Amino acid sequence: MTTNIPAPIAPGSTLGIVGGGQLGRMTAVAAAELGYAVHIFTPEENSPASKVAARTYVADYDDDDAIKAFGESVDVITFEFENIPAETVKKLSASAPVRPCYNCLAIGQDRVKEKTFAADLGIETAPWEIVKSADDLREALKIIGTPSILKTTTLGYDGKGQVRLRADTDPSEAWDALGGNVGILEGFVDFTMEISVITARRPSGAMATFDVVENRHKNGILDVTIAPADISSALAEDACAIGQKLAEAMDMVGLLAVELFVTKDGHLLMNEMAPRPHNSGHWTQDGCSTSQYEQFVRAVTGLPLGTTQRHSDVVMKNLIGDDINDWANIVKNPDDKLHLYGKSEARAGRKMGHINRLYAKGSQPKGWL
Ligand code: AMP
Repeated sequence: MTTNIPAPIAPGSTLGIVGGGQLGRMTAVAAAELGYAVHIFTPEENSPASKVAARTYVADYDDDDAIKAFGESVDVITFEFENIPAETVKKLSASAPVRPCYNCLAIGQDRVKEKTFAADLGIETAPWEIVKSADDLREALKIIGTPSILKTTTLGYDGKGQVRLRADTDPSEAWDALGGNVGILEGFVDFTMEISVITARRPSGAMATFDVVENRHKNGILDVTIAPADISSALAEDACAIGQKLAEAMDMVGLLAVELFVTKDGHLLMNEMAPRPHNSGHWTQDGCSTSQYEQFVRAVTGLPLGTTQRHSDVVMKNLIGDDINDWANIVKNPDDKLHLYGKSEARAGRKMGHINRLYAKGSQPKGWL
């Protein structure tokens, strides 16, 4: 029997990661534990990932020589964020397999593509309309109404690129506040909970999904993740099925994180997805035998996936900006696992690290709640 499944990329090979942030850093550490070397490509000098990698190529995404040198120095290439120009991905593909493929990044980069892709699979989202001008916004408001949120279609993260609209908001001002980008107007969801689910998929199509978690945000930035989410097993199964359906339909190799709203009547609406490790998966580092980072490395190299079983309940707390100054107190608590990203400057709103607070499995997490 012939098969198209590529052979695994063996330990001892080199994993290339595009992007130098904390997700790349934690992936690099997990890769090292499995015996891989890691090379980073990033425009940023002194990035968190570069501090734990064997080699870093610091260059812009349109620097052809650097892209070629990086591509030729690695055996497989992945990404720690999705906003990579299509042309760069195409050039990288000439040197080594790129996982996940560009199509997955393209869907994850653009809210319109993402929501259309989900809708085609029968996955519900909040109602939305595309908006390209202040006049479009006035028309969209007639359909969507208020409260609603105007979001940029690309490059939005941590609540950036979003304008909330109320009944008394002037549409022209809201449009100007978005900065002239193409946007979508999205109906405001009066959710009971925000949850997320992370699915890993190998080149063979085999998948493994971590437990569904609850996410609480502050000022648009993830504050706390509670693992597991306190939801019915039926709802958790629905969320896992959505993650797997999306990963399969995209023919994704790697990790897919899907954020969902739980509505008052117990429905799931997809908010957004990311084809990479996710902030809401940090808890797996200390709550599961296989972390999302190890799973990511296993998936993109084609190794068998590890168990996603949870051995502890976890509350993950992001350390934003000055929160990091409390590190000396945090390390005093033996149940708190401190993870810092090696960033030198603690700017406001910047993710500096996180804490995983462990609880016996089945005990309801308390602490920060
Ligand atoms: P996003 O960048 O789309 O993930 O939005 C950041 C956060 O804003 C989400 O995690 C929610 O807390 C909130 N948010 C985004 N879209 C909506 C919506 N349609 N209804 C209610 N809250 C939202």
